[in-house]
Amino acid sequence: MKLNEKPTALIMIFGATGDLAKRKLFPSLYRLYKKGKLSERFAVIGIARRPLSNDEFQANVKNSVESAIKDSGELEDFVSHFYYHSHDVTDASSYLALKSMAEELDTHYSLEGNRIFYLAMAPEFFGTIAEHLKADGLTDVDGFKRLVIEKPFGHDLESAKQLNKQIRKAFSENEIYRIDHYLGKEMVQNIEVIRFANAIFEPLWNNRYISNIQVTSSEVLGVEERGRYYEKSGALRDMVQNHMLQMVALLAMEPPIRLTTDEIRSEKVKVLRAMRPLEGERVKEYFVRGQYGKGSMSGKQVPAYREEQMVDEQSNTETYVAGKLMIDNFRWAGVPIYIRTGKRMAAKSTKIVIQFKDIPMNLYYQTEQTLNPNLLVIHIQPEEGITLYLNAQKSGQNMEATPVKLNFANKGIDGMNTPEAYERLLYDCMRGDATNFTHWDEVALSWSFVDKISDVWENTKEEGFPNYESGTMGPKEADQLLEKDGFFWWPVTDLDVEEC
Ligand code: NAP
Repeated sequence: MKLNEKPTALIMIFGATGDLAKRKLFPSLYRLYKKGKLSERFAVIGIARRPLSNDEFQANVKNSVESAIKDSGELEDFVSHFYYHSHDVTDASSYLALKSMAEELDTHYSLEGNRIFYLAMAPEFFGTIAEHLKADGLTDVDGFKRLVIEKPFGHDLESAKQLNKQIRKAFSENEIYRIDHYLGKEMVQNIEVIRFANAIFEPLWNNRYISNIQVTSSEVLGVEERGRYYEKSGALRDMVQNHMLQMVALLAMEPPIRLTTDEIRSEKVKVLRAMRPLEGERVKEYFVRGQYGKGSMSGKQVPAYREEQMVDEQSNTETYVAGKLMIDNFRWAGVPIYIRTGKRMAAKSTKIVIQFKDIPMNLYYQTEQTLNPNLLVIHIQPEEGITLYLNAQKSGQNMEATPVKLNFANKGIDGMNTPEAYERLLYDCMRGDATNFTHWDEVALSWSFVDKISDVWENTKEEGFPNYESGTMGPKEADQLLEKDGFFWWPVTDLDVEEC
């Protein structure tokens, strides 16, 4: 597709009355429409079981856009492209009606037979839907057909393989768009730009100059009403297998020979293949799990994980993971990449800290001054930007060094101009750009790494749970993980130093 060409497609959203469609998909489509990135030649069929007329569905779409976006003009035109089909995805007989509706809309909007099937539903339905789409001819189209699939992609390697086998009967690998919404975030995409468009970083991006890397994704929220799902998942499967390992792959990959989907993915796969596998006793040495107890957050008492709805009172599920990853290749040998993620932590923050090694001879030690190591911080959310921590001369003080920071805050001109992750990803999918979606090889390698950790954890009850108080940054064992190597977690808040 040419750069300025506007995509044309029929988008079928399975699970169109659900939370994801309401909070993310409809507002994202609207933003694309408002920015003129969608042509008038698009239509959406919302699919779910509850009976709704087209008018009722359009009113729901309108509400969801209005509650997400302040400045929502042109809504009537936008929602006129939305249609509803009440349909139980397990009922084989109703796919034919969906097919004729799709064909009518295809003709009406001249959609050239382009179809996107977005599965915004519980994963147990993914395989069934894909099989029916093929069996009932919904995938027999003249244009493109693409399947967008939400996380989790399986529960472990085995279930992921089965799911992949099912969906591959109807779609080829390059027609499958596995969403990892972290890959749609502005600053995650910026990792490549920071690394490969700046002469000052790439020469230093290796074990000669970097001492360690820290990737944190902390949440203040607890498990909320997702207890049933979370009990089976835990932080390892929910966050590490996908988002955390994807960020690590982008940080550690070799420069691709071209910025194309295949080349980037192939470099990411090499990182995942080079990750030191952990088994048995090694798991304990490299990974720490945690579960939140009760505590006080913003002056309010919050319950322990085990007291949450749909959670077992004796639950062994982890709500926190910290780990040390070693990438055993020439570039990274000896450099630990620490990751941590958890719920009910002190701050909501996704951040990457790259800590550079100290200079070989620090002249300032002679004057008993301690210098900070140089840090490059990539702020992913809620703030977006980059901070570089340096040491500079204190103003007016001869030869006295002090830590300072250079800050770049990534601010859109207004909320509307900063694309949301889902907006980018939907647009990429419509244009056929799969770079920011996960390839099966990445999914499989991530699961095989994570499965070995969960095997050990599932077979050993953690006696100390809960082991961190709500409103803290996790269990003390996570601090000890770094202390053993002579490091510590950099705070997720900015360091209190002067800004240049
Ligand atoms: P949800 O709120 O529970 O919505 C589920 C949707 O599926 C509803 O529209 C429901 O409508 C429909 N549905 C259920 N059974 C059906 C059936 N047999 N036939 C047809 N439709 C059926 O779920 P969600 O939070 O939107 O999540 C959807 C997917 O996105 C999940 O895979 C989830 O893991 C993933 N995800 C969600 C979020 C998020 O922010 N919500 C974030 C990341 C990933 P009816 O009851 O009317 O049938």
